[in-house]
Amino acid sequence: MATNGTEHKHQNGQENFRHQEVGHKSLLQSDSLYQVHLLLLPLYPPPPPCSFRIHDWLTFFRHFEFQQYILETSVYPREPEPMKELRELTAKHPWYIYLSWTLNIMTTSADEGQFLNMLVKLINAKNTMEIGVYTGYSLLATALALPHDGKILAMDINRENYELGLPIIRKAGVAHKIEFKEGPALPVLDQLVRDAKNHGTYDFIFVDADKDNYLNYHKRLVELVKVGGVIGYDNTLWNGSVVAPPDAPLRKYVRYYRDFVLELNKALAVDPRIEICQLPVGDGITLCRRIS
Ligand code: SAM
Ligand code: CA
Repeated sequence: MATNGTEHKHQNGQENFRHQEVGHKSLLQSDSLYQVHLLLLPLYPPPPPCSFRIHDWLTFFRHFEFQQYILETSVYPREPEPMKELRELTAKHPWYIYLSWTLNIMTTSADEGQFLNMLVKLINAKNTMEIGVYTGYSLLATALALPHDGKILAMDINRENYELGLPIIRKAGVAHKIEFKEGPALPVLDQLVRDAKNHGTYDFIFVDADKDNYLNYHKRLVELVKVGGVIGYDNTLWNGSVVAPPDAPLRKYVRYYRDFVLELNKALAVDPRIEICQLPVGDGITLCRRIS
């Protein structure tokens, strides 16, 4: 495991999962998928005698039920049409279908999308950044919340997925706010940090990419975000694995990234340059408000 202040090596772009965020009335989608998972429950790891207990599973499904309730009551009925369209398009993506079956998905959940949209409005953000775009759900949530002359510098190593969602973003009339850069984010941040004119210029930054680089991003982003501005680090509960016992049978990539997420959470908690608030929205998001 890398330590605070060292360079954290990025191994691959694979990611990112959360308990279900999906629409209605298909096998891929909420009620039926939930029932399928319930039926398959006995087949999933971890069975006894490992130290994950039935209580953990019940807690997991309780959390799932809360999220379904929130989605159906407060989120889906008010979800802007373009976000709904993009969410449904993303649900047909092969990565999404595969990851749904393993209880992991790439895209930001609709409740978190609603949260980001409101946050951007609450802080009157204008100049923003996103690291980790995929098909653009969180990007669209941000773009819709920004004023007409708002900006998002969006970075992802994969342009193809971004281009899947781009027609919907264009149709929503917000594509002009987005500058997309294809490639790893770290060199772009280094370039931005080299020019002092960029320091303290971002109102809001959403980080949802390679977890093994989050501390490297943080080192640079703290310079780039303005005092009073907010950085949001996504997936800081890492599918609940942050509280899993050491011998819990986690999937390989969950175990690998867990150490980085744990280390990030510890580092953010003691960083005197920021105030933090870690929320159990989606797979966990930690908001960092720069104070010095
Ligand atoms: N925020 C997105 C959404 O709402 O759909 C989900 C982002 S997905 C969880 C993570 C993304 O990070 C992937 O699209 C992946 O290609 C990208 N990624 C991985 N490593 C990266 C890196 N080093 N620099 C930039 N993007 C990276
Ligand atoms: Ca995420």
